[in-house]
Amino acid sequence: MNKNLLLKTEFVLDEDIKNITTFKNVGKVAGAFYPKNQGELINTVKFLKSYKFPFLIVGNGSNLLIDDKTPLFVISTKFVEHKISRKNNVLNVSCSTTLSELYHYCCNRSLGGFEKIAGIPATVGGAIKNNASSFGQSIFDYLESIKVIKNDKIITLYKDEIDYYHHSTNLKNLLILSAKFNLKHRKKCEIINDYIYYSKLRRLSQPLGLCCGSVFKNPPNCKGAGSLIEQCRLKGFSINGAEISTQHANFILNKDNATFDDIYNLIKLCKNKVLFKYGIKLEEEVEIISKKILG
Ligand SMILES: Cc1cc2nc3c(=O)[nH]c(=O)nc-3n(C[C@H](O)[C@H](O)[C@H](O)COP(=O)(O)OP(=O)(O)OC[C@H]3O[C@@H](n4cnc5c(N)ncnc54)[C@H](O)[C@@H]3O)c2cc1C
Repeated sequence: MNKNLLLKTEFVLDEDIKNITTFKNVGKVAGAFYPKNQGELINTVKFLKSYKFPFLIVGNGSNLLIDDKTPLFVISTKFVEHKISRKNNVLNVSCSTTLSELYHYCCNRSLGGFEKIAGIPATVGGAIKNNASSFGQSIFDYLESIKVIKNDKIITLYKDEIDYYHHSTNLKNLLILSAKFNLKHRKKCEIINDYIYYSKLRRLSQPLGLCCGSVFKNPPNCKGAGSLIEQCRLKGFSINGAEISTQHANFILNKDNATFDDIYNLIKLCKNKVLFKYGIKLEEEVEIISKKILG
């Protein structure tokens, strides 16, 4: 660990969770580091590991519900350089780059592959960790390899060395630094048409507001989680500032300064009601960072 580099890294003590996740629930974490480049990012991880401080890597925070009562440091990749370099059809992309930036870069160069997932509010690092996907397109479709930190070393993992499933992977306890994609040429007008079409579908099917996307995974071989919750008459139900969306019951919105407990209690309520009425155990898609869960 390099002390001078650590001193250069921006640090906010008692950072507000609203600056870290898209749920923006009220409360604070112990502190947040905002490295500006890969060197600072790796150095910050080494520092927190060496002192055994509990920490979490955060991209855009769009799949996280953080409990402010859990002592935790955050390393945000938000301000790490957003870099894309290209050799023929192969792109090398830094972990902090957003899917929207990646889509626009590709679209301008007639490279297809991200038009259906461009609307997911994710960084490349978070999207790979969670296998972000929508409308049948996945971040893994054109992935070639990733660079990660494992046991303090930078290594390359090829796609066939990674286990990936619906919205999840086995990439735990690793820092994803960058990714290589091998893309296909596609006509720019086709790319744009798909982008517009799927953006519209997204706008029509998903509510606007502070949220984490879908709260629950769709259980196998039955109706979607949203319709199960709706049939328990929970659409629009609220606990203080948190509300189950009136548009799509698999979304919980932070309408008015919701706390972790407000959102978490709504999640528990949905699970209990669906279990009682249908005998189906809903599983969270949102990653809950809480001592309550981690023990
Ligand atoms: C409005 C909305 C719509 C959404 N729609 C979709 C959808 O259609 N499809 C879909 O799949 N998801 C969707 N999501 C969920 C979410 O966007 C995805 O799970 C996304 O992949 C999370 O990316 P992120 O950068 O925000 O990661 P974060 O939420 O910041 O983190 C997610 C996980 O990745 C880890 N992580 C982040 N960066 C790194 C890194 N560099 N190295 C190692 N680990 C890292 C974190 O520790 C955490 O475990 C939606 C969310 C919202 C708010």
